[in-house]
Amino acid sequence: MLALSNPAWIDQIEVGPEQLRELAVDQARKSINWFPASRPLRPLTVPDAIQITIDPTAQTIAGEVVVRATVLDSGLSQLVLDLADNLTVSAVQVFDSAATFTHVNRLLSIDLPPLTPGTMIESRITYSGTPDPNGFGSFVFSSRNGNDHIWSLSEPYGARDWWPCKDDPSDKPDSVNIVVTVPSGLVVASNGVLDRTAQGNDGTTTYFWKERYPIATYLVSVAIYPYSVWTDTYVGLDTTQSMTLQFFSYPDHLDQLENNYLRTKDMLHEFALRYGEYPFMEEKYGHAEFGWGGGMEHQTITSLGGWGLDLLSHELAHQWWGDMITCADFHHIWLNEGFATYSQAIWWESQEGMTGYHNFMNSRRYYGGGTIYVENPTSVNVIFNYDLSYAKAAWVLHMLRHVVGDSTFFQILQTYATSQYRYGSATTEQFRDICETVSGRDLHPFFDQWIYGTYYPQYTLGYSQVGDSLHVEITQSSPGGTLFSMPVDLEIHTANGPFTTTVDVSHNVDQYRLPLTPGTQVTAVFLDPDQWILRTVNYIPMGNDGNNLPTAWEVGPAYPNPFNGAVVVPYSVRTTTELDISILDITGREWVTTTRRLRPGSYQFRWNGKTGDGRELPGGVYLIRIRGNQLQKAEKVVFLK
Ligand SMILES: [Zn+2]
Repeated sequence: MLALSNPAWIDQIEVGPEQLRELAVDQARKSINWFPASRPLRPLTVPDAIQITIDPTAQTIAGEVVVRATVLDSGLSQLVLDLADNLTVSAVQVFDSAATFTHVNRLLSIDLPPLTPGTMIESRITYSGTPDPNGFGSFVFSSRNGNDHIWSLSEPYGARDWWPCKDDPSDKPDSVNIVVTVPSGLVVASNGVLDRTAQGNDGTTTYFWKERYPIATYLVSVAIYPYSVWTDTYVGLDTTQSMTLQFFSYPDHLDQLENNYLRTKDMLHEFALRYGEYPFMEEKYGHAEFGWGGGMEHQTITSLGGWGLDLLSHELAHQWWGDMITCADFHHIWLNEGFATYSQAIWWESQEGMTGYHNFMNSRRYYGGGTIYVENPTSVNVIFNYDLSYAKAAWVLHMLRHVVGDSTFFQILQTYATSQYRYGSATTEQFRDICETVSGRDLHPFFDQWIYGTYYPQYTLGYSQVGDSLHVEITQSSPGGTLFSMPVDLEIHTANGPFTTTVDVSHNVDQYRLPLTPGTQVTAVFLDPDQWILRTVNYIPMGNDGNNLPTAWEVGPAYPNPFNGAVVVPYSVRTTTELDISILDITGREWVTTTRRLRPGSYQFRWNGKTGDGRELPGGVYLIRIRGNQLQKAEKVVFLK
């Protein structure tokens, strides 16, 4: 994929005529100057912004797109839009006159008459062809159970594969009309509200969808199939405003997905409580099933290839983080994907408390290299690298929450949601500045090390008690060689019970002297006991200087082996240790991951052949892997069923 950009002086706006006044009023109500009513306008001659007629048999589209744009600088001689080369442009008008144009290298360059800054350009482009799917699909003709199934997934650069546009998330169309004509019997799901449908004389039906909120081009979508359409209702936080949830399901999937879909209104409520009200309340939220294995957060109408609660919560959260506020460009995709992944943890927290929250976060730890900031956004695989843009990026928010504290963290998210970036786009720095303003802290080091830096801190903790004073030494290294500056919790266990204190760790070696209540006997010290930092930790035995570290733990043989009920792995620990225990199948896939913080002693790990969330695994060979203090050991076990 190749990112193309347009001249920066074009400010694209797409809008239908009858909505101009309505839109100006709407935007004034939202106090956002997207479309100043004072701007002189001339009436449009074409009623809609994107009109597409789809022929599923020939697998072709025929489209007319009206683009409106404001001239910002003098000397503008061309309107340059993104459009795939395999689509054929047959005519272009500027205002009411035919215009000359070139269409090469995925750019449609339309010649303009001399125009003064402030002029609204209006151009109509007539085009046709068979879209050539790129990225994750962009525009796909397929069939399912003998029925035509057509869908789009344009992120990141695929909008231009099926309609001409300024394909740049930092400059959103203020609104868009999407008018799609299909053979009757097919149902078209799209963004915003369905204004009406119309039957043609030629066996076709036309769907008139209108989206009245600003929308990034890659979020404009169609999903087409003989869907079963059903609804639910979300009642807003103020309990007076309600909104329709509209679901476009494969008829044969209704039974399977219904229960999870019905949780959508609960998810909306939980996210609205934390992020502010759902951002498209005047329209709808919905799901449309499509033929891609995953989900895509199309604005107000997520496309789904599954119905798991994690998928539903992830895509719903994108309506705030990704759709309402879009990454300004794909260098900053973590502002979409990290936030949506983190929101999955928020959903589990709302259902299962902090245990569910931490279980989710711990399942998303990533210890490899690379930066969250996407250095090469021309590669779809780099942009959507799960480990970095999703998992580690979610950990950045998880860590930020603990650094600034719970109430400040959610205040940051609500401030961000209502900032000047609402219905617009943002960069890492713009989000960071909001974090700093709300928290009153310098967070440059935090974002530098976690977004632009690589890897994570590897801590080693040793301690000794001298009278009524606890001496703690924390050394730090990192596979990337950089030092991290983080507040670190210490959980100190004594004969009278544990207590927690926080120290700032920022050097190769940091030493602390903590006063103890007279007579206190320290029995163990744990670093970051609740796992708020993406880190590893090794514990040096009490009183040891760190040299000649003895083996910290050992594993005995698993028994019975083979097993069919449960298998037991005995292990013993000589020093305070944190162990990660995982169950892997022979393909290396992890089914169970658990972390145990242990004082010296003997322990057993018991496994009953189920996944971490309680599902039965098939019989076969499995590996029980134990890691900690720079050691890894594994026991091979055979599960008979
Ligand atoms: Zn996502």
